[in-house]
Amino acid sequence: MIFLTRKAEFSSAHYYWNDEWPEEENRRIFGRCANRNGHGHNYTLEVTVAGEVDAMTGFVVDLKELKEILEREVVSVYDHRHLNLEVPEFAAGSGVIPTTENIAIAIWRRLEGKISGAKLHRVRVYEMADLFADYYGER
Ligand SMILES: [Zn+2]
Repeated sequence: MIFLTRKAEFSSAHYYWNDEWPEEENRRIFGRCANRNGHGHNYTLEVTVAGEVDAMTGFVVDLKELKEILEREVVSVYDHRHLNLEVPEFAAGSGVIPTTENIAIAIWRRLEGKISGAKLHRVRVYEMADLFADYYGER
């Protein structure tokens, strides 16, 4: 088994807000992140796939295809978007707050089953250089 990781970047705006709570509770828990005008991050995504090296190509997965999948499924949907307002999985009423953790899970769900020839192993999302979340799917 070999693991291969591809990186991608996207810039998105978000805010943290739980509709089940009154405004003061949102402000207490989320602080500045509850500002509903949003703020932005330059996210770095690392997607790791696992599989066997193909004897003919030496690859575990078609790198061009993997890049295209990340572009189509994630970057084109998230980049230069307001996650709360423009991305369905975080939209009002979804109950899903676009934290680094939830973004990693959402990206896993977008990619699962779409990479041919290899298994999705890990999705890592950096919100900033010193903060990231890892998701390995449900185990
Ligand atoms: Zn933020």
